[in-house]
Parts: sequence; C-alpha cells; structure tokens
Amino acid sequence: MMIIMHPGATQEQVDHVIERIEDNNLSAHTSVGVNQTVIGVVGESHSVSPHVFETLLGVQSVQRISQPYKLASRQFHPENSIIPLNGFTIGGDEILIIAGPCSVESRSQIIEIAQIIKETGANALRGGVFKPRSSPYSFQGLGEKGLNYLAEARKLTGLPIVVEVMAVSQVPEMIKYVDMLQIGARNMQNFNLLRAVGDTRIPVLLKRGMSATIEDLLLAAEYILAGGNNQVVLCERGIRTFETATRNTTDINAIPVLKSLTHLPVILDPSHSTGHANYVTPVSMAAVAAGADGIMVEVHQDPAHAISDGQQSLTPEDFARMVSKIKLIAEVIDRRLVPAKFPIPREKGDSSS
Ligand code: PEP
Ligand code: MN
Repeated sequence: MMIIMHPGATQEQVDHVIERIEDNNLSAHTSVGVNQTVIGVVGESHSVSPHVFETLLGVQSVQRISQPYKLASRQFHPENSIIPLNGFTIGGDEILIIAGPCSVESRSQIIEIAQIIKETGANALRGGVFKPRSSPYSFQGLGEKGLNYLAEARKLTGLPIVVEVMAVSQVPEMIKYVDMLQIGARNMQNFNLLRAVGDTRIPVLLKRGMSATIEDLLLAAEYILAGGNNQVVLCERGIRTFETATRNTTDINAIPVLKSLTHLPVILDPSHSTGHANYVTPVSMAAVAAGADGIMVEVHQDPAHAISDGQQSLTPEDFARMVSKIKLIAEVIDRRLVPAKFPIPREKGDSSS
C-alpha cells in the first residue's frame, strides 16, 4: 500500500500517518519527492483497509501497489533513485564503470591494475577476496589479506572498492573496508545475507541469479530495501539458457524491463554474461544503448595467467578501447561517462573534513 500525502502536508501529519501504520503492526518507508511525500506501507497490509489511512489529515490518496515487490517498484518511487558513491552518482545521467580483476591475487597485482584502470577511465575498483567457486578445490580468494590490499589500492588511486560478500558472518568486517558490497549471482536468494546487508547503510550491488527471473531479482532487492538500506544497484550478469557458445546469455531485455519496473539503477556485467573477452565490448555497447546505468567488467594485466576468469578478462589495452566505445554510445543517447578524475575520497573511518 502507498499513501500519497497532499503537496502541502505538514511533517506532523506525516508523522501521525506513520504512527497509525505502526499501530497496525506494519512498517512505513517514506519517500520525500520534490512536491509530495509518499509513504510505503510494508508488511501484511492486505488485512488492513485503506480507509484507515484515507481519512487522516494530510492524506491525498491511498493506492495498492500491484507488484509483489513494493519499495523496489516504480509505482512507489516514480523518479530514478540516484545513489552517491564517493563523489559521483549512479542512476543519473552518468554511466559508471567498475573494473578490476575477478580475484585479488596479490598486493602488487591489485595495486598495479587499480592504477592502470584509473588512468583509463574506471570509476570504481572490483576484486573478489571471497570467491564463490563451482569447485571446492579452486582458488577461494585471499580473504582479509585481500581486503587490506584493496584498501591500499583505494588509498593510492582514490577508487572506491566493490567487493563480494558471501556470508552473513563476513558483513561486519567487510563494511569497515568496502564502499559497495556485492551480492553474487549464487547468493541472490540467500535471504539471511540479503537481510544482513539490508541492515547496513552502504551501497549494495545485487547480481541477478543465473536462473532467476526479473521478478525474483526485484524481490531479492526488496529484502534489502525493507531493511531500510535504499542504496541498491541491480546487475544483470547473464542467465543460463540452452546456448553453449557463451558462458551465459546476456539478457539485454532485462535492462529496459527493469528500468520500467523499478527506480533502482541497473548495470551490466558483460564479463560473466558472455564469458569471452572478445564479446565483452560489443555487449557493453549494447547494454549502454539499452539504458544501462553502468558496466562492471573484469580486467587483468595478464589474462592468460589470471587465477580465475582469465578467458573473460580484458587486457588494459582492450579496456581502454571499450571505454572509448562506450563513451561514443553514451553521447548518442545524451548520457556521459563519469569524469575519471574525481576527488580522492577520505579513507574509510576518517571523519575529519
Ligand atoms: C563476480 O563478479 O566476481 C562473480 C563471481 O560474478 P557472479 O556472481 O555474477 O557469477
Ligand atoms: Mn569472475
């Protein structure tokens, strides 16, 4: 249910509506727009009549949200959500580029690649330290040591870091280091993990499960939003189909579909969606043309010797070419890349100004 307040409603009236929502054992999520405040009512609201709220002072109308996901729906929040990340924003006119290796392999590897990608246009650095590998015998990641290396790369380059969290128990430690928590495809429906990141207040990159429908993805996002964390970015990363020529099948359709169903930013990971470095650039261009708000791509200084996902990793030269092609597409659709040189962010935990 969604309660739309009159444009001139006072804060007292809004607070009174919230009180009545909570009296009914429901929770209120307020979205303050330019003209109007909308209050989303979440919980078992089907047993509560809209009339309970319609008569309250300051209320213009009460509507049911038709989709099963509420806070993620465009009906609840008609404008795009714009999420700040270290001096730039995701979901507005700018197109974000997150780049870096599949896994953090060593201190020198991550520092070197961070410096290279920063020079060629990346806005954020990715790198896994807890790796969800299909085989238990494959490299599982450097763990906390890797987080320290990433933090050092961040300090040297100013690039915010995006790192996958695999378990609820990792969340408290990881939020001390990372700027954006990634939930991987295999954990998209790990509801305990979704709730745990929903309790944090740092941006979350939620990847689509390889067999998840668009509705499943939006319901997963709803778990995070319902916890009060409204900084969620969705990531299409390819789905499993009968096709074997590529690792997964990029669901380009998902980009405009998601953009129409939700206000949350949507990006594409063409590395996992194709599985081949040769297809990464054309598919990224298609995603930007289709309305994606960004690209997350794997880049390695020596893909042939990468510990994981070398076959889909771009070389630094390929990455530079990809950025210049995306830039052209962005201009055609009246968007632009985030300027590569943004102020060096403060270190995490540094509250001095
Ligand atoms: C990754 O981005 O490192 C990753 C493991 O991707 P996915 O969860 O999409 O497979
Ligand atoms: Mn990978």
